[in-house]
Amino acid sequence: MISSRNKRSLGLLKLGLVVASVALFLATALVYVSQTRQQAFLTATIRSSGWVAYQAQLEFVRAQAEFAKLAIVPSALGIDKLMLRLEILRSRLPLLYDSDEGRVLSDVVDTRGPTQIFEARLDQIIDDVARLDPEDGDTAAQLRELSTELEPLGEALQTILMESVAYNQEIFRRERALAQRPGATPLLLLFISGACLAAVLILQSRRDRIRMGEIVEAQATLAAVEENLRAVIQAVPACVVVIDPDTDHVSFFNPSAADLVSPSLDDPAWPRFVNAVRVAAGEPDTSRWGALTMGYARSPGDIVSLRGSVGSVLWERRQQQLIVLVDTSRVRNAELQVMQAAKLATLGEMATAIAHELNQPLAVIKMAVANARRLLDPLPGGEPVAAKLERISAQVDRAKRITDQVRRYGRMPTEQLLPFSLRHAVELAAGFVAEQFRAANIRLSIETSAPAELLVFGEQTMFEQVIVNLLINARDAYETQDEDRPEAAHHEGGAGDRQSGAGEREVQVAIRLENARAVVLVQDNAGGVPPEMLERLFEPFATTKPTEKGTGLGLSLARSVIRDMNGTIVAENSGGGARFVINLPTSHALAAQDAA
Ligand code: ADP
Repeated sequence: MISSRNKRSLGLLKLGLVVASVALFLATALVYVSQTRQQAFLTATIRSSGWVAYQAQLEFVRAQAEFAKLAIVPSALGIDKLMLRLEILRSRLPLLYDSDEGRVLSDVVDTRGPTQIFEARLDQIIDDVARLDPEDGDTAAQLRELSTELEPLGEALQTILMESVAYNQEIFRRERALAQRPGATPLLLLFISGACLAAVLILQSRRDRIRMGEIVEAQATLAAVEENLRAVIQAVPACVVVIDPDTDHVSFFNPSAADLVSPSLDDPAWPRFVNAVRVAAGEPDTSRWGALTMGYARSPGDIVSLRGSVGSVLWERRQQQLIVLVDTSRVRNAELQVMQAAKLATLGEMATAIAHELNQPLAVIKMAVANARRLLDPLPGGEPVAAKLERISAQVDRAKRITDQVRRYGRMPTEQLLPFSLRHAVELAAGFVAEQFRAANIRLSIETSAPAELLVFGEQTMFEQVIVNLLINARDAYETQDEDRPEAAHHEGGAGDRQSGAGEREVQVAIRLENARAVVLVQDNAGGVPPEMLERLFEPFATTKPTEKGTGLGLSLARSVIRDMNGTIVAENSGGGARFVINLPTSHALAAQDAA
């Protein structure tokens, strides 16, 4: 890219070269004209400057010859001839300084001074000759005297003639020199002028090339920007539509708009869409951009809510309406869900508070029932009332279990997950139920292939509660089996299978480390979860147990606790019973992440 400073200096250089070439051209012309004129002048000078001196000299010689002839034989005719010669000589003298040639000559030698001295003398001589008498014996002597008087004029004329010849020779030499190198200077000037013009042309073409390069570069940049903008418009997850405000014809739509409305412009969905825009945006306003919120029925019952803006753009050299819309239906649904979740949270808090508050009256009822039993005991015939009191007491226990579970369920998860030994927690939980398992004749085995120091993160007591719940559920499943098939309960070991109906009662707990995650398996052989229950197993209040025994909150609470530990819990029927699999992140997973 050429800088503006460089551009300015290039421009100045170009202007200087143009001025120089024009000046040189003019100078060339002037030199040429002046040389031509000089040469013409020299030629003219050569032709004429010696001529008048020569003529005067010739006439002087002729006059002297007449003098000499007449001195030998004086005659009237000879005198007349001499007179004529002298007159001609006299007429030649002013020409030496007062003609064009004479004036050129006087630049070289003084012709006026010497010539005018002799003009008066010559007039006198002419008068003297006119008075001569050829018959007079003295005439010859007088003629010689007059001739002698004229001799200095001959010398002067000789000098002038010699000077003029010398001058002529000099002029001739200069003229020859000029003729030999007629165009050297103008040619040189012309060459320099041409070189200047060539330099201007080179500079101009270089500048044009740079400009052309800049234009091509700018065009390429513009094309790339346009390409990028098109790609953005195509890729943007918002609907971009251009509508001609005069005809309501859709000029452009991007893939998101095609997904929302239709990929084909012939589809009647498009006029419906344009109409919905018109209803929401009102009359097209080409002067400004405005917000646009609208609903659009894709099909009966499927209404999407859209939000965006509408404005005027120059599209395909016409002022058209650009509409950019985002489908906000999901956001609205999410808002509704958030509101629902907030309501549920409030409800949960209320439930926890109610459960807490109920504990007190339940304790009072329990105590009152116990007192009533004690008072009733000595009285005869009180058995039916005692049985009723027993039922009240059992229901109070059930209500207490429910409130306890609700309180646990509604507790806030701990913000900080603390590490604890998985194996230790499982063993503690197993310890809680060991007595009950022995009484029910159920073998409980814990098998672990995971290291003893394997740590998981969460609230240990809550996790223990989860394992206890799974083990109690297994025990209850055996009890249910017994109730379904009473003869099996008296079978050796009391073992039963929902499918086989035979075998040892055994609950196996296995702890493993798989792909840097802890896996806890709780497997029984008590016949498995009733199929109708499998889908709703983790939902609150889903239970198959009698009302005085089950709350249906145990597994729901288990899932909530495992989620808080960033883990998962799933259930399936396998191996003649139910299998629960808990998957948890461990300290090993963190170590692996750190190493990566
Ligand atoms: P509750 O034990 O109070 O019923 P849970 O949420 O703990 O509540 O259990 C829900 C139901 O899941 C039980 O009523 C039972 O039908 C079924 N269930 C749970 N564990 C097992 C299991 N090991 N074998 C068979 N069914 C089970």
